[in-house]
Amino acid sequence: MTNVAPPLALLAEVTYRCPLQCPYCSNPLELERAKQELDTDTWLRVFDEAADLGVLQVHFSGGEPTARTDLDLLVAGASRFGLYTNLITSGVLLNEAKISALATAGLEHVQLSFQDAEAAGGDRIGGYKGGHEKKIQVAKLVRMAGLPLTLNMVVHRQNLDHLEDMIRLAVDLDAHRVEIAHVQYYGWGLTNRAALMPTRKQVETATAIVDRARERLKGVLVFDYVVPDYYARRPKSCMGGWGRRFLNINPAGKVMPCHAAETIPGLEFESVCDHSLSEIWTSSEAFRRFRGVEWMPEPCRSCDRREIDWGGCRCQALAVTGDAGNTDPACELSPNHHKMLQLAEVESDGPPPAFVYRRMGGAPRQKEAQPARDERL
Ligand code: SF4
Ligand code: SF4
Repeated sequence: MTNVAPPLALLAEVTYRCPLQCPYCSNPLELERAKQELDTDTWLRVFDEAADLGVLQVHFSGGEPTARTDLDLLVAGASRFGLYTNLITSGVLLNEAKISALATAGLEHVQLSFQDAEAAGGDRIGGYKGGHEKKIQVAKLVRMAGLPLTLNMVVHRQNLDHLEDMIRLAVDLDAHRVEIAHVQYYGWGLTNRAALMPTRKQVETATAIVDRARERLKGVLVFDYVVPDYYARRPKSCMGGWGRRFLNINPAGKVMPCHAAETIPGLEFESVCDHSLSEIWTSSEAFRRFRGVEWMPEPCRSCDRREIDWGGCRCQALAVTGDAGNTDPACELSPNHHKMLQLAEVESDGPPPAFVYRRMGGAPRQKEAQPARDERL
């Protein structure tokens, strides 16, 4: 395929290692081992190719990207090729010297995740004792280094009732932006869906809190609010459309249209070790599979929103309907929409089950056996 517009941003998952164990982590259940990580030179070659391809931004992610001892070299390399650099981090491995080294290397922005508004909840959800306090220190150091700061808050039924306090935390820590994102149910989030799914009432309250805070904090804090699909009437434009704006490279070098795409059976993702980024972006079978509108079934095919939301999320279509080629069931026009709503209502009802924490080596066997399609509905 020729004449494919260049991607805007590259999500560089430089490692799957992470000291936290968030039960909604978007990393795959079977995590690649540290030894399968691309080396420094390969990443630098990839950033060079990305800049040539037209990519403007690199988001360093993981896992926990600061687990790599060469992160400052990677940031410096990306900067040298003219790419905007953003670090997405849990913060717990950072200190003043490391932040200073990253700033000197050219880092331009930090996104720091918090699991809750206070230590007890934050440490429990992240599965890392002392993590919350460490993050507060790191947020202060990031601001002292002169770097702009975004706080990432992933919200769900077990922390949504603290949303006001989370927003207050972002203001107190002098963040420029807060990203409040409801859990996306793939990877570990799908395994833990019943433990994380909020009630409709919680979602409505949260949306009202964000609307009021956005008004009250105009000029102080910018809000990004990612609404939960399970109670939605229309899907989000997932990744701006499959293979349209973003590409994701996993620690071993596989290139994907989004970080959950590996959950889709039958797609072969090519590696930067075997092909150039440009070849993969323009011609690889996996990128072409759901790009544009040709692949779409009805009702998307004849819908006037088909080039707005691009049919929604393929991974979500797979998780709920068993087929990644279906219309995203978050859409009211999908014949599977009622299944999604029912799932949300059933799973948010009653006390949440215990978390299955994210860890290297995969989820327990009984959880792995969970079918892609929910057979209860
Ligand atoms: S979501 Fe949590 S466990 Fe997953 S990479 Fe981020 S901090 Fe680590
Ligand atoms: S039918 Fe398809 S294109 Fe139309 S709104 Fe629903 S998901 Fe979007």
